[in-house]
Amino acid sequence: MREDLCSIPIHDVFLPKDGCPFCRMRDMLEDRMATYITGAAMMEPDVREETNRLGFCEEHFNQILARGSRLSVALILESLLAEIRSEAFPKKAAPLKKVLPTLARRKDSCFICENLEKNTAHLLETMVDLWQKDPEFRTLYQEQEYICFPHYLQVLEAAKGLPKKSVSLFYEDTTALAGKYLAALNEDVTHFCRMFDYRSTGSDWGNSKDAIERSIRFLTSREPQDRQKADEKNR
Ligand SMILES: [Zn+2]
Ligand SMILES: [Zn+2]
Repeated sequence: MREDLCSIPIHDVFLPKDGCPFCRMRDMLEDRMATYITGAAMMEPDVREETNRLGFCEEHFNQILARGSRLSVALILESLLAEIRSEAFPKKAAPLKKVLPTLARRKDSCFICENLEKNTAHLLETMVDLWQKDPEFRTLYQEQEYICFPHYLQVLEAAKGLPKKSVSLFYEDTTALAGKYLAALNEDVTHFCRMFDYRSTGSDWGNSKDAIERSIRFLTSREPQDRQKADEKNR
């Protein structure tokens, strides 16, 4: 994977103050990778070798399908399917003991996930460093709307190596962002549920209309696929 593809200015990611900044960072990286794989990388045999070795998860198959032409996706699939055939379904039947680890390795492997993990680890390291050294960035960090739950865990993990005093301050800042949002979300969901009580007829939905979608986004870091209007009939 080309290095410049994944260099993201941390400061810019934090400027919009809308949603989780680490989701924004991930979206940026994913967008660049998925566009690259179905575009410029089509002519690079070493990238194809890697996509054949690792394949893609469902999320990232959908992303390359959304960005690339159908032909570019088909070309990626052609060599990927061929490699899986020779690996997992060899012409000369292999013993189960040998085939099983190959199948298991394929189950959770994804070219974009693997590159995402590597590049995110590097970006988080830079971010923690910036938080420690640049007071202006620290204020920007505190002003974020929230940090989603999966990224909350990931970010705390990345800050483990900070000096003792800094680590507790970082924990404080980060926990405030995830914890306050979670508490507000919980209240919004409770309000949402109450709105289905006959005693609430005519009451205001307040902030609760999209509480389901926001909760799923907070818990998974991904946008839910199926959206229903808040007051729509229960299925
Ligand atoms: Zn996030
Ligand atoms: Zn993936």
